Amino acid sequence: MAERYDYIIIGAGSAGCALANRLTEDGKSRVLLLEAGGSDKNFWVYLPVGFTKLMTNPKFNWLFETEPDDSVYGRRIPIPRGKALGGSSAINGMIWVRGQPLDYDTWAQFGNRGWSYDQVLPFFKKIEHFERDGAIDEARARGGPVNIADSYSRNELADLFIDAGEALGHPRNRDYNNGVQDGFGYYQCSMKNGLRWSAANAYLDPAKRRSNLNIETHAHARRVLFEGKRAVGVAYDVKGVAREAHGGEIILAAGGVQSPQLLELSGVGQGERLREAGLDVVHALPGVGENYRDHIAARMNWRLKQKVSFNERTRGLRLAGETLKYVATRRGMLTSSAALAHGFVRSRPELETPDIQFFFMPVSYSDANKRAEMDREPGMTLSVYQLRPESKGSIHIRSGDPYAPPMIKPNFLTDSEDCRVIVEGMRIGREVIAQDVFAPHRLHELNPGRDAQSDNELLDFCRRTAQTAYHPIGTCKMGHDAMAVVDDRLRVHGVEGLRVVDASIMPTMTSGNTNAPAIMIGEKGAAMIREDARKG
Ligand SMILES: Cc1cc2nc3c(=O)[nH]c(=O)nc-3n(C[C@H](O)[C@H](O)[C@H](O)COP(=O)(O)OP(=O)(O)OC[C@H]3O[C@@H](n4cnc5c(N)ncnc54)[C@H](O)[C@@H]3O)c2cc1C
Repeated sequence: MAERYDYIIIGAGSAGCALANRLTEDGKSRVLLLEAGGSDKNFWVYLPVGFTKLMTNPKFNWLFETEPDDSVYGRRIPIPRGKALGGSSAINGMIWVRGQPLDYDTWAQFGNRGWSYDQVLPFFKKIEHFERDGAIDEARARGGPVNIADSYSRNELADLFIDAGEALGHPRNRDYNNGVQDGFGYYQCSMKNGLRWSAANAYLDPAKRRSNLNIETHAHARRVLFEGKRAVGVAYDVKGVAREAHGGEIILAAGGVQSPQLLELSGVGQGERLREAGLDVVHALPGVGENYRDHIAARMNWRLKQKVSFNERTRGLRLAGETLKYVATRRGMLTSSAALAHGFVRSRPELETPDIQFFFMPVSYSDANKRAEMDREPGMTLSVYQLRPESKGSIHIRSGDPYAPPMIKPNFLTDSEDCRVIVEGMRIGREVIAQDVFAPHRLHELNPGRDAQSDNELLDFCRRTAQTAYHPIGTCKMGHDAMAVVDDRLRVHGVEGLRVVDASIMPTMTSGNTNAPAIMIGEKGAAMIREDARKG
C-alpha cells in the first residue's frame, strides 16, 4: 500500500525547506518531503569557506555541466547544484541579495497577479532575521527564520574596493536589500554565529520533530504519477528500492535544472520530445525546459605587490592564526562568503536602476571555476555580470532514464545587450581598480590583461573563460502565454494537483543572486497553497 499525504514535496532545497515548514505549521497537514541527497550535517557545509570544497564534491553536488556551447567556443560549463537537505543553499556562496523592486514589478506587469514588489516584500520580511545592531530600514525585518549577517569577514583590500567605488562617484551602500541597490559595500550573508545558515537550518531543523512531517533522504523521485490529468502521487527510489507515495497535491521543488526534467519524465512537456524519449504524453506543454537563463560572470584578476590577500593567509602560520581567530571569535577569513564586497552600477548613466553587479574577493585562483587552489603570489579577483540577462537556453531530458543528467544548453552571451553590458562592466571594473587608493597594492592585471582593450577582445575573454554564477532559473516559467508552465498560483497549466515552487518559475532573472528569491517563492507558494486549501 502506498502511503497517503496531503502534500508531497520533491526537493528539500531553498524553496522546498520553506514549503515543508510552512505547510506543516498547522500541525495537521500531512507532508512528505523527498530529497535525493542526504544529511547536510558536515564540517565543510557549515564552515563558510568550505563552500569551495563543495564545488566538486559528488556527495553534496549533482555536478551537472552544459552541452558544448558554441557561444563560448564549444566549452562545457560546470553547473553545480546542491544535493542534500538544504539543496543549493547548503553549498552556495551565502551571499544574500533580494533583487530590485523592478524585477517583481516586471513579473506583475506580465500579468502575474500577486507578484509585484509590494506584494512580495512581506514575504522577504517574513523570511529574515537581519542581525545588524541598531535601527534597520523599514523594508528589513527581525525575527524570521533565516539569519542574515553583515559579512563577518573584513579585509583591507575590500575596504579599498569600496573606497575606490566612492572615488569614482558611486555611493557607499550599507544596505542594498532595502529596495535601492546602487553603490558599493560589504555583502550580507545567510550565516549565523560564523556558520552557514541554509534553508535546512532555518526551516527544517525546527520542523523536523513535527509528527505531520515525514522527511525521506536519499529518495530520488523518478516521476509524478497521474490518473488522467490529475497528479496523484510520486514514484521514487530509496537506495535502489522502488516506492510510491500518494498525495492530494504534488509540489515540484527540485530547482531550475531538475523541476523541468521531472515534468518531462512525468509526461508533461513538448509532445514530440517526450515521444522520442519513449514516454507517454500526459499533457503537451511547449514551455517546459525553455526560457533557461543564468548569470554568466567574467572573472578579472590582478597580481598584488604586498602580501595582503587571502592567498598567503591560507598557508602556514597565517592560516593557524586565522583558525585560532575563528575558534575564538567566529570572525575572520574563514567566515568569508563567495565575495566580500559588492558594487551595483549602471552601464549607462541614464538607466533607471543598476544593470551590473560586481563581486570583489581578495583572493586569486589558478582555476577560477574550481576555486580549489589559490595562487601562491598575492592576488585579487573582481567578477562581473549583467544583472538581468536576456540570453535564453533550454534544459531537457536526453532520454526517459530518470538518472541521466539533463541536456543543458545555455546559449550564453547570445543576446547583444548581454554582451554590451558585460563588456561595459569589465571596463568599469578596471576603472575602479585603477583608482589611486589601490596604487600601493596593484601590480598588474593578470586577466584579461592589458592586451585586451577593444570590445571584441573583452568579449572574446568572456567567451573563452566566463563561468556561471550558479543561478539557473526560468525553465518552468510563470505566466499566461503559450510558453508559460505554471500560472500565478504556481499550478502547472493543463493538469490538476501539481505545482512547481522553486527558482524555475521565475519568468525573468532577479537582479542578483537567487537564493533569497527562491526562498521567497517557497514562502509565498506555501501561503498560496494554504489559502487555496481553505477555499476548498
Ligand atoms: C555553488 C553555488 C553557489 C551559489 N551561490 C549563491 C550565493 O552566494 N547567493 C545566492 O543567493 N545564491 C547562490 N546560489 C544559488 C542559490 O543557492 C539557488 O538559486 C537556490 O538555492 C535555488 O533554490 P531551489 O529551491 O530552486 O533549488 P535547490 O536549492 O537547488 O533545491 C533543489 C533540491 O531538489 C533536490 N532534487 C532534485 N532532483 C530530485 C529528485 N529527482 N528527487 C528528489 N530530490 C531531488 C536536490 O537534491 C535539491 O536538494 C548558488 C548556487 C550554487 C550551486
